[in-house]
Amino acid sequence: MAESLKILFLSAEVAPFAKTGGLGDIGGSLPKALHAMGHDVRVIMPAYKKIEAGYPGVEPMGHTFRVPTGAGEIEAGVFEGRLPGSDVPIYFIAEQYLFNRDTLYGYWDDVYRYAFFSKAALEFVRTLDWRPDLLHAHDWHTAPAITWLATAGQADDFFRGVPSVFTIHNLAHQGKTNWHVFNYLGIVTHSLAEEAYDEVNFMARGIYHATMVNTVSPTYAREITTPEGGAGLDALLRHRQFDLHGILNGLDYDEWNPATDKRLAANFDLDHMRNRIVNRRALQARANLPQVDDVPLVAMITRLDWQKGLDITGDVIHRLMNGFSGPAQFVVLGTGQPEYEGMFAQIASYHRDKMTAFLAYDASLAPLIYAGSDIFLMPSLFEPCGLGQLISMRYGSVPLVRATGGLADTVQDGVTGFAFNYYSSDAFWHALQRAIYFYNVDKDAWRSIQRRGMMADFSWDRSAKGYHQLYEWAIARMRGY
Ligand code: ADP
Repeated sequence: MAESLKILFLSAEVAPFAKTGGLGDIGGSLPKALHAMGHDVRVIMPAYKKIEAGYPGVEPMGHTFRVPTGAGEIEAGVFEGRLPGSDVPIYFIAEQYLFNRDTLYGYWDDVYRYAFFSKAALEFVRTLDWRPDLLHAHDWHTAPAITWLATAGQADDFFRGVPSVFTIHNLAHQGKTNWHVFNYLGIVTHSLAEEAYDEVNFMARGIYHATMVNTVSPTYAREITTPEGGAGLDALLRHRQFDLHGILNGLDYDEWNPATDKRLAANFDLDHMRNRIVNRRALQARANLPQVDDVPLVAMITRLDWQKGLDITGDVIHRLMNGFSGPAQFVVLGTGQPEYEGMFAQIASYHRDKMTAFLAYDASLAPLIYAGSDIFLMPSLFEPCGLGQLISMRYGSVPLVRATGGLADTVQDGVTGFAFNYYSSDAFWHALQRAIYFYNVDKDAWRSIQRRGMMADFSWDRSAKGYHQLYEWAIARMRGY
């Protein structure tokens, strides 16, 4: 087996303790997969309200420690637990005023909250007397730890020489504040070209200071080096392009398994595909649609956000519902921007016998849609990795995607799904017509696309091997190889 590494893993979200998106999924799943490979991983996140209120299996450690900041020493506490279903230790940094709040984000002092968290996490590790071989930090929230390590940390006997990996999950949120935060963190550094006068940008700092950088798919790693995809940081990312890698997120196969998923009307696998029809009927019943079999049932589950390609979707659903490609049914589950909710509500009002819009977040309905539909739409404008297409493949709903970011890396046109390139309703519509043609006319080809999707391997084990390789490179770089 490969050398066992001591990995310090910092994240603002770790499922199931706190999750608003893909960041939480990776925080909950990757450490477990790394642990299974023999690595000593320790995860640290803030003690949000849910933890402070008492979370089963999570206990206070009973002592406090002091965190030096530019605003004086601040006392912090720690809770300790394990990632569910594993032996991976997780620590929660507790500070009443900063983290014990109603929501995770959205406060005026967010950047200071996470600057404090990052510094406190490193100070806490010092008290454990456990020197990590590597720091793995995620998104802007924990980038201050990387910046500290690369600057002040190099004069610190305990942390000197610890390399870092920075993972970008969402380039759109960058964590900007004023220069005073460096006084707070005890850092002396120079300004970056990406930072305006008196501005600090922690996303840029993570990219600049980390030993190695990655994002959550190979195609997205390339796209963010372009002005169109770089959110203002493309020049910096090009500067680091030889250290910038793409590693696909995995899917939690324990949670998303059609053979065991209790939320389904009937479980199924490749050898019991007939049971899938039970889910189709249940979905049609739930959506108040006629329980017909031979009509393509098209579906979408998404945050209703401009990133998700909704600007090219209305026209396509309009054509589909008006029968331009023959009979079809359509179900959408989503919530978000009012204009998109209105768009779906309006089209649905014209086609009550074929279409239902569930304008809500419903985690128990989602699995039934994945398991009961035939075609799953993801026409995203950009998509760092994407989870929906991985779940839909696993549950036998053939994905139809725009070939961008992680969608381009996971769905092969005509092999495991359908893909189009140009961001327009016409390109989207042509791809949908093509999919429906296969569905109606070439059943064998359709079934083999569906089966290949169900057999594809997007497990965390695969991703963890990619991260292990990246850690080895970062360590070698720090040693000067
Ligand atoms: P993002 O993280 O950008 O929202 P992903 O495709 O990576 O997109 O992940 C979306 C996840 O959230 C999927 O698991 C999807 O099933 C789920 N989801 C999105 N909207 C809803 C909803 N309204 N109800 C239930 N689940 C949803």
